[in-house]
Amino acid sequence: MALVAMSGTLVGVDGVPIQVEIDLLRRLPSVVIVGLPDGAVRESAERVRSAIQQAGFEFPRKRVVVNLAPADVRKCGTAFDLPIAAGILAVSEQVSRQRLEGTMFFGELSLEGLLRRIRGALPLTLMAREQGATRVILPLENAAEAAVVDGIEVMGASSLDEVVEWMEGRRELAPTQAAPSPPEAGSSLDLAEVRGQARARRALEIAAAGGHNLLMVGSPGCGKTMLAARMPGILPSLAFDEALDITRIWSVAGLLPEGQGLMTRRPFRAPHHTISAAGMVGSASLRPGEVSLAHHGVLFLDELPEFSRHVLELLRGPLEDRAITLTRAAGTVRLPAGAALVAAANPCPCGYLGHPSRPCACAPAAIERYRARLSGPLLDRIDLQVWVQPVEAESLSRGAPGEASSAVRARVERARSHQSQRLQVLGIAARNNAELAGSAIRTAADPSPEALRVLESTMERLGLSARAWARMLKVARTIADLEGATRVEGPHMLEACSFRLPEGERL
Ligand SMILES: [Zn+2]
Repeated sequence: MALVAMSGTLVGVDGVPIQVEIDLLRRLPSVVIVGLPDGAVRESAERVRSAIQQAGFEFPRKRVVVNLAPADVRKCGTAFDLPIAAGILAVSEQVSRQRLEGTMFFGELSLEGLLRRIRGALPLTLMAREQGATRVILPLENAAEAAVVDGIEVMGASSLDEVVEWMEGRRELAPTQAAPSPPEAGSSLDLAEVRGQARARRALEIAAAGGHNLLMVGSPGCGKTMLAARMPGILPSLAFDEALDITRIWSVAGLLPEGQGLMTRRPFRAPHHTISAAGMVGSASLRPGEVSLAHHGVLFLDELPEFSRHVLELLRGPLEDRAITLTRAAGTVRLPAGAALVAAANPCPCGYLGHPSRPCACAPAAIERYRARLSGPLLDRIDLQVWVQPVEAESLSRGAPGEASSAVRARVERARSHQSQRLQVLGIAARNNAELAGSAIRTAADPSPEALRVLESTMERLGLSARAWARMLKVARTIADLEGATRVEGPHMLEACSFRLPEGERL
């Protein structure tokens, strides 16, 4: 008598198949949902009962037992409403069960029986294809993102009524086609609008070419935010698998614009400094945080020392591993968090330390306290550190426009293609220089003896850690790649070392 409808749940950014097994027992009428359901799944019973009655069917006057298997996976969210409703109607023989075969169901039901948008439709559909399902049925609002997956029929429905008519063979649901991707426009902000700032622009280009992290220090109004906002426009265009990675995370976060298929732009996230720890790295309910939403793009943290110390310390893991591990009762989950960090900071509390014309009003002790908010281990992980000076009024009005983003991006793409060819030849699993780890760093950089001497003497002079050593070598590798050089030579290393601020200028 029992019947199984296929569905799934999310673990991190992955879909996991779940069998929704439904049985009717001759006992007092009630609904029991077992198999590690969370609060939202337990509340499903009331939504399903109401939706079934609104659709003109009878809710069985028996004990309805819903068993979600396997039992050791925590089931979260509201996507089980639809498979539970479809299963109850089929097991009570009010609706044909024939079309359950090969179909996966996902969808939240309103009390009136309308299908509501769920989180994670893209990873759930990818999972359905892997499991060999023929089709998925889900809320119409989710159909565009799910249709990105080829090799499986994606059918959107707007109500339980429509799904029932389809199960009965009285109506066909039109398969949703993948939306044509909007033209790849990069970013509408162009570096041509930035005049002067040669050094900061160079740092931005290196950061983009190798996927490195960047800190800009300078007075308010000197253009740090303007520069950072132009970073996505000089990053290489998205590869399909990167676009899929990003869309998957945004799908799980429930942030995809309606009707959006694949995300075609690199994300630029700029959270305010008052953000909470859960907002930054993600929460126990497994909503991706800003570090994950910025995956394959840019995470811009303006006024870095104003962020809570706790939030900044939580960033150390993702900066090292390009992923964040969240712990919850049912175990740990890893979410991708491979954004390039671009941070900006004032040099002191008033902001004018080192300014050519305005005096700094801060007491030395206040400056020290301000700088102490950023820990050494965090700064160690920021590869490129640069002072940004205010541009004089004259060069703002009369100076030539800056080089356009398209020209910078062409160099970045060339440098990236040098990297990917080398990494492929060496058999190293990394996408760019910033992702190099362990002994692969030295192998890929292939530094000349002179480059190593420059590096050693800088380490000694600035008193840097072993972690900084590896990071400077990676930056030098990127500088050599921008030049098309096969090995890291002395001048590449000198330039890489110049992006580590000496004591006194360091935050
Ligand atoms: Zn000051």
